[in-house]
Parts: sequence; C-alpha cells; structure tokens
Amino acid sequence: MGSDVFDVIISGGGPTGTMLAAELRLHGVDVVVVERDAEPTRLVRSLGLHQRSIEILDQRGLLERFLANGTQYPGGGRFAGIASPQPVALDTAHDYILGMPQPVTDRLLEEHAAELGAHLRRGTELIGFEQDDEGVTAELADGSRLRSRWLVGCDGGRSLVRRLLGIGFPGEAATNEWILGEGEVTAAADEVAAVSEVVRTTHRGFGIGPSGDGRYRAVVPAASVSEDRSTPPTLDEFRTQLRAYAGTDFGIHSLRSLSRFTDATRLAERYRDGRVLLAGDAAHIHPPLGGQGLNLGIQDAFNLGWKLAAAVRGCAPDGLLDSYFAERHPVADEVLTLTRAQSVLISAEPGAQAVRRLLTELMGFADVGRYLAERVAGIGIRYDFGDGPELLGRRLRDVRLSQGRLYELTRDGRGLVVDRTGALTVAGWADRVDYVSDRSDERSDDVSELIAEVDAPAVLLRPDGHVAWIGEEQQGLERELRRWFGAE
Ligand SMILES: Cc1cc2nc3c(=O)[nH]c(=O)nc-3n(C[C@H](O)[C@H](O)[C@H](O)COP(=O)(O)OP(=O)(O)OC[C@H]3O[C@@H](n4cnc5c(N)ncnc54)[C@H](O)[C@@H]3O)c2cc1C
Repeated sequence: MGSDVFDVIISGGGPTGTMLAAELRLHGVDVVVVERDAEPTRLVRSLGLHQRSIEILDQRGLLERFLANGTQYPGGGRFAGIASPQPVALDTAHDYILGMPQPVTDRLLEEHAAELGAHLRRGTELIGFEQDDEGVTAELADGSRLRSRWLVGCDGGRSLVRRLLGIGFPGEAATNEWILGEGEVTAAADEVAAVSEVVRTTHRGFGIGPSGDGRYRAVVPAASVSEDRSTPPTLDEFRTQLRAYAGTDFGIHSLRSLSRFTDATRLAERYRDGRVLLAGDAAHIHPPLGGQGLNLGIQDAFNLGWKLAAAVRGCAPDGLLDSYFAERHPVADEVLTLTRAQSVLISAEPGAQAVRRLLTELMGFADVGRYLAERVAGIGIRYDFGDGPELLGRRLRDVRLSQGRLYELTRDGRGLVVDRTGALTVAGWADRVDYVSDRSDERSDDVSELIAEVDAPAVLLRPDGHVAWIGEEQQGLERELRRWFGAE
C-alpha cells in the first residue's frame, strides 16, 4: 500500500469510522482512518447494542467476541422508560440487548478494522480538504497532506467535514443540557440506588448506577445550556448539580471522565458532496434517549461500505452510491422522530405526563409494544426497492439453510444468492456475489428454514443482508445483479 495516497480517507475513528474502514477492507480498499485523539476515549456514552447491530456483528463473524465482552439483557418492550407489560418477542435470532460500555465497543471495532488491514493514525487531526475530479487532498494539523479518491466524514456531531462542505444541518438547537461523569463514590451502594429511584420518579433525566470496576456513571441536568460546549464541565459544577437534584453528591470523586451533552436534534440535508460523504453522528444528532446513535452509525457504515468499495473498484452501477443517502436519510429521520417523542414523554409537564399515561396504556396492546420495539431495534427497516413482496427491501433474519447458517455465509461482505431450485447461476458476477444451493436432502435432518421465511424458490441478498430480489427466473436475477453489482 502507498504511504500517503489512499483509496479512502476516513476522518474520525469512532464506531462509525472503524466499522466503515472494516467494511471497506473486506473489499480490499486501501483505507486510512485519521483520528484526532491520541488515545482512545474513556468516556462511557453508549451503554449497548440493539438487535439489528447484533445481527450485523453476527453477519461479520464478530458475535462471539462481542458476547464475551458484554452482558445480554432481555430486549424489546421499552420506550421512554415505559416497559411493555408483556414480553415482546421480536423476529430475530438475537432477541436481546447487548450491554457494553462504549469504550469496549469502540475497542472491539477498532481491533476488527486493524485485523482486516485498515490503517488508524491516532493523534492526527483533519483541518481542511480540497476535492477535484480525481480525488481529495486532506490537510492535517501537523502540516502534512494525504491524497485519496474519497473522503468520509465520520467525525461526530460537530463534524468539520460537514461544516466545510456547507451542508445544511437543520433541526432544533439544544434546550436542555446534561452533565455525564464517571467516578468513585463514598456513598453505600444501596443508598445510591434508593436515592436514584426516588429522584427518577420526578426527574427522568437524572440517573446514577454502577459502571463496573467499582465506579459509578451519573447523568444530571446542567444548570443551563452552555455557550461553548467544547469546554468540559468542572467537578464543582457536577457536584453542585447532583446536590441540587438528589440532595447529595454521593461523595463522587476520582473522576475518570466528565462531559456534557444536549438534546440538540439535527439531520444533514445531504450525505454526499462529490467525492466526500458523511456517516454517523456527522450526519445526524439527537439526544441519547433509546440509545440509538451508535447503532445508527454502525448501520450507516454497513450500508455505505460495499457501495463505496464498488465505486473505488470502478464497478458501481449508476446511482448505487447515491442509494446510501436515499436509504439511510429516512432511517435517521425516523430515529429523530422516536427521540423527539421520547423527549416529550419524559417531561414533567402535565400535558406530557398525560400523553405518557395514555401511551403506557397503549403499550399494553401487544401490537403497540411490538411496533415500538421493532423500531428501536432497527429490524423493521424496509428500503424502497420498488414494488414487490413484503420481504423485498427488508433484511433477512438469520435462518438455518441446508448448508449451515445464513449469517455464516455472509462474512466476506459479498452478495449472496440462495437458490432452492439448483438451476440459477451467478456466472459473470462470481467475483462479487456468492451462490449457495439450498436443496434440502429429504433423507437427512438438514432441512432449510428458508422456505418458512421466504415463500419463493430463490433470493438475492445484498452485502448488507437486505433482500434485493425474490424469484426463480435467471433473467430476473440477472437484471437485479446488474442493478446492485454492475455489469458482468
Ligand atoms: C450520554 C450519551 C449516551 C449515549 N448512549 C447511547 C446508547 O446507549 N446507544 C447508542 O447507540 N448511542 C448512544 N449514544 C450516542 C453515541 O455515543 C454516538 O452516537 C456515537 O458515538 C457516534 O459515533 P460516531 O463514530 O459517528 O461519532 P463519535 O463517536 O463522536 O466519533 C467521532 C470521532 O471523530 C474524531 N474527530 C472529530 N473531529 C476530527 C478531526 N477534525 N480530525 C480527526 N478526527 C476527528 C473524534 O475524536 C471522535 O473520535 C450516547 C451518547 C451520549 C452523549
């Protein structure tokens, strides 16, 4: 690989940037991630992963290492802190939430990208760039330059890449701010738990609980929305706010991290300008209600990776790269709708409380609980691939095929045809698309579950597991292979 010329530069080595780097490496793309921070952050923002992200980990062979580092909790059935009275069983082989502090998620994704050969340059800040017809020249804080064919801004909510492109970021400015800190406390564990429970009955934006290694993670509303959010809060400010809400600061000390976040809610007007793209928080921000931001970023990367790789390799069909925005912008918009709704539902205002009571009753209906749970979990997403059966455009859940598990067959990030007829072929696309015959042998126990899932002889899955075609005719298959994978 060349030292300072790459196919793709990713600005930002958070979960979105490293997931994208790994996805690009699956296709041999020469990618470098430039990350401003010299050391990984210890700040625990996200606390876990939802069902669709867990499926994605399984689709890339990462599940075991994530399970070994996390804790499984029952999934589904919770919205704005309201629990469904009955368990909601979702249509996934992984119906649980994986509890995991964000630094662990970040580390595991970074390791995965590095194992696949991505370069990560820490302590390297992007300060500007210029694009031309052939590529992008990135300017770094140390005065050096990097050249690439594409640049992706995965540089978080205050994305420099987005600002330099002048891409609009409409939405609502922050009206509330919270302080988030992690440290040790002198108060006894049962006292912390008891006080937290009482305070949360009136202030749902407050919370304190163990975060491992004897530490506690506390979130408390700030006194006001600060003018300059790049300045971290002080320990005094944190203690004052804890006392204001809980009547005690729990004797918090030896802080490991202290930061602020707000309820600002915004969505980028475009995710692409020429050879520069946006993904993750750089494209959308919202309060962390429902714990969706990191999940959304990983899923953006999963959608973009194979498309950008095809553009790099010169085999991307017309419109493929722009389908990234067409597919992911509505998904982010939907997440913003969910977080806006939850922001209202946790308010102490009488009107909001009345809506909360009503929703609590509605969530007693199994269909309502399922509807909300599916949306938060990210498994109900259906991209618009045109008219067709209900499953078209949806991700296929993991099913047992006559030759193993479906998700085990998708680890290389290629397209996949699962064929029950044995008569189809992907000849002409075999460098981009795998083929598996799913003809159950009636004399053995290896009966495929596919027929129960898809009532059709064959399916074409994109590298992100979404169903691109359902049918049995070779001609129809080839039309869709061309549409998603380019000419033979
Ligand atoms: C309190 C809180 C709780 C949360 N809980 C959850 C949760 O439970 N579940 C969930 O899914 N999400 C949660 N989130 C959201 C989640 O933390 C973010 O959505 C996620 O980190 C976004 O990932 P990202 O990679 O897009 O951006 P980031 O994680 O922000 O990473 C961006 C990276 O870019 C780097 N960078 C920035 N500018 C430059 C530059 N100019 N040059 C080089 N590098 C640069 C930064 O140093 C950073 O490492 C929470 C957020 C908060 C604040």
